[in-house]
Amino acid sequence: MKHSDCAPVIAYIGLGSNLAEPVVQIKSARIAIAAIPGVKELTFSGLYHSLPMGPKDQPDYVNAVMAIATGLLPMDLLRSLQAIENNQGRIRKGERWGARTLDLDILIYGDLIIDQPDLTVPHPGLAERSFVLYPLFEIAPLLLVPGKGAIADLISQCPLSGLKRLD
Ligand code: ATP
Ligand code: MG
Ligand code: MG
Repeated sequence: MKHSDCAPVIAYIGLGSNLAEPVVQIKSARIAIAAIPGVKELTFSGLYHSLPMGPKDQPDYVNAVMAIATGLLPMDLLRSLQAIENNQGRIRKGERWGARTLDLDILIYGDLIIDQPDLTVPHPGLAERSFVLYPLFEIAPLLLVPGKGAIADLISQCPLSGLKRLD
């Protein structure tokens, strides 16, 4: 594993779960992310309860956002996050936005804009998703989302859509 391919940048990770004790899944993932070599936890949002996107015949979600400092390159960070998803029992069935034990998305990676087949940063759904924007605003209220603008402006355009803070 590479620890220091580049100078540390601040990145934001979106966490989501709606299977097998979601709160436990999110808390376990937080510990696992902080333990990735080359990753340091900076801030963790509260936990939020959200309604599913896509298929409605699935449980509600628990979501959170984590700020990290990392020297890992974006693709190496993504691979490490996918390994954590797999370790926590994520099974990919090919259905978009189906139920999962754990989803870890790279929301923002420093000021980079990445448009590769397997990695788009900032995350393409970020500006439309209340379960991303509200926890992100909680931990970084002055954030400028690369290519998309101030988090406060994005929030003002995004209804809660059933989002509730849990703790
Ligand atoms: P969504 O990305 O709309 O939230 P999802 O998280 O359910 O949907 P996944 O099945 O977790 O989608 O991931 C599908 C693919 O998305 C991954 O294989 C990954 O290569 C790609 N991907 C592209 N950009 C990102 C990103 N910023 N963070 C995580 N995965 C990404
Ligand atoms: Mg996702
Ligand atoms: Mg994902």
